[in-house]
Amino acid sequence: MSRWQDEKAERNRQALARLHRALPDIFPSAVLSRALSRPFVPPTPRLAIDSYWRAHPLRADRLARALAGKTGAPDGWRWRLSANRRDGLPTTFRAPPAPYRERAFARGAGFCCVCGQPVYRFGWHVDLWGADPNKNAAWHCACVIAWQFWHAPSGEARLLRRLQARRCAQSGGRLWKTAEVDHRVPLFRVWGDYRDMPWPKLLDFWGLPNLQVINRDVHAAKCAGEARDRRAAATIA
Ligand SMILES: [Zn+2]
Repeated sequence: MSRWQDEKAERNRQALARLHRALPDIFPSAVLSRALSRPFVPPTPRLAIDSYWRAHPLRADRLARALAGKTGAPDGWRWRLSANRRDGLPTTFRAPPAPYRERAFARGAGFCCVCGQPVYRFGWHVDLWGADPNKNAAWHCACVIAWQFWHAPSGEARLLRRLQARRCAQSGGRLWKTAEVDHRVPLFRVWGDYRDMPWPKLLDFWGLPNLQVINRDVHAAKCAGEARDRRAAATIA
């Protein structure tokens, strides 16, 4: 074995020992089996959970939207923007609306600022341990990944391409290397036409249901059409 392999094996032995020491009796089995099969074993339960969701961003997206569905929108909340991030409001319609990140509606320590549900040990979303919510946590590990995905879905272009069997979602032709991730309903239209839709249904516009990979020329034509519609709408207004 090369020296590098030796070092890697040794590091993994140590990480595994650390993980086993810190592991509670109850732990999500899918997370554990993935952690143990990694070339670099995550050395803590928290990192194991983090690495699990990182590998499954679409699962995280679905879960975050489902958890938000359990909470629902707070009374009196409306999707609003603010030019200067006042009260934690988003500055642009490109950011997914998140009532529980706004100062007026935050649920406080132990609740996730994305979905509003309690956060348990290691940032898990289910109380497997019969413990109170973790007062030091304000995010589920899954919701962190979902949040990143909603902001930058192109980061998962490879995954989305595979899901479409490498076919352009608009033309049906083969996807080229230069293909791009697109929101079927563009976000400016979500803000313009659907902003009063109940939360968290609104979040679907940032998640998988509204995402597609399309070839660059098709995308350019779609964007040009959308820009024309925007100009026409502005003239009518
Ligand atoms: Zn959450």
